[in-house]
Amino acid sequence: MADCIFCMIAEKNIPSKVVYEDDRILVFHDLEPQSPVHVLMIPKKHISSLDDLQTEDAELLGHLMLKVKDIAKELGLENGYRLVNNCGEDGMQTVKHLHFHLLGKRQMTWPPG
Ligand code: AMP
Ligand code: ZN
Repeated sequence: MADCIFCMIAEKNIPSKVVYEDDRILVFHDLEPQSPVHVLMIPKKHISSLDDLQTEDAELLGHLMLKVKDIAKELGLENGYRLVNNCGEDGMQTVKHLHFHLLGKRQMTWPPG
């Protein structure tokens, strides 16, 4: 999708530090890490947010979710991690292309801010 920064990253029109890639998803380091490990997991297909997910996207999202544990292992998060999705205005979503933050290598707190 034009004007979508994560579509541009998926298409390699904007550089990123890629951790994992296949035909359907991309995992890359966040520009402003909020923990020692902070990567973003995105579907290459443009989906604006969790709120815009369609039934036809179930397999794609299942694929992404099943990769979480593999990426966590690759990044050394054997002690645990947090997977975050910010959705919409109240969720403080800033990039309107579905993404999951995978954060680790520090003690998280609850409740989130
Ligand atoms: P959210 O606030 O959940 O929409 O998260 C958007 C995330 O994208 C933030 O953590 C940003 O630091 C990150 N971000 C924005 N632009 C880039 C970029 N070009 N490369 C990597 N991460 C980015
Ligand atoms: Zn996009």
